Amino acid sequence: MPPEFPPARFVFSLDSEPHSRRTSLLREFLDGILAVVFPTNCSLCGQELSSDATLRICRACWASLEPWTGPLCTRCGLPFASAQALDSATPLCGQCRKNDPGFDKARSFGLYTGSLRRIILHLKFGRRERLGKRLGELLAITWDSDEELRGLALPVLVPVPLHPSRQRERGFNQAELLVAGMVNALRKGKGRSELRVVKGCLRRRRATPPQTGLSLAARRENPRGAFEVVEPERVRGRTVVVIDDVMTTGATLSACARALKRAGAVRVIGLTLARATPQFPDLASAESDIPVDGLGRDWT
Ligand SMILES: [Zn+2]
Ligand SMILES: [Zn+2]
Repeated sequence: MPPEFPPARFVFSLDSEPHSRRTSLLREFLDGILAVVFPTNCSLCGQELSSDATLRICRACWASLEPWTGPLCTRCGLPFASAQALDSATPLCGQCRKNDPGFDKARSFGLYTGSLRRIILHLKFGRRERLGKRLGELLAITWDSDEELRGLALPVLVPVPLHPSRQRERGFNQAELLVAGMVNALRKGKGRSELRVVKGCLRRRRATPPQTGLSLAARRENPRGAFEVVEPERVRGRTVVVIDDVMTTGATLSACARALKRAGAVRVIGLTLARATPQFPDLASAESDIPVDGLGRDWT
């Protein structure tokens, strides 16, 4: 009898998510060893790394990741270039004045420019999973500096889900890494054991095309209706904090918030690492040195 070959299904399962996760962890581990044996350069600025560098990023680049502390829209957190808008009692950006964004509030750690933008691109396209958890510590800073977030009792933390096909392609969901890093940091610092991350209750119903390359209007329309809540009992009557890496028009966050509210969430707050806005363009956006996954697309 000739030996039997495994069914085709088995072959596919070898290429599923745990496999690419393992490959990625192994790669990071080997990178770590290489960095000790052969000193290497900072992934962001190219300077040779000293021994106190973490995750192939130099001290100066880590230090350059700064929170936005200027004036902002009280609703969606859009940073304002001038303090003029603060004259009114509740400063809102033009967009929030015109339309209800669906979520109750959104905040970001910093601007999607310079080092912060480049480090996020490294995270997503360079398959740097440990970097994601480390960047989650920046979200913990934003959490701690916001009175409402700090005071939330039993909030439900929901990472923005990727469509399964995109998650398979990337091997991980960056929002999940960020929220894990943030919760670790908050628990360590303040002993907050009641922070619960709920994965899988919010689902992407369809794969939306990458936001890059779409007009602003198309970007706003693109994620509409793309999300559904599959376990409403986990969010009903609760304040939900939705976590993602980058917020641009806020359309993804709005779509998530609407689905969560339909499922009974009482308040939805968005929390992202970076806020992209044409008011603060990234003047030094030379992308050629950023390792992308062959697709080069700056999507979330
Ligand atoms: Zn550097
Ligand atoms: Zn706004």
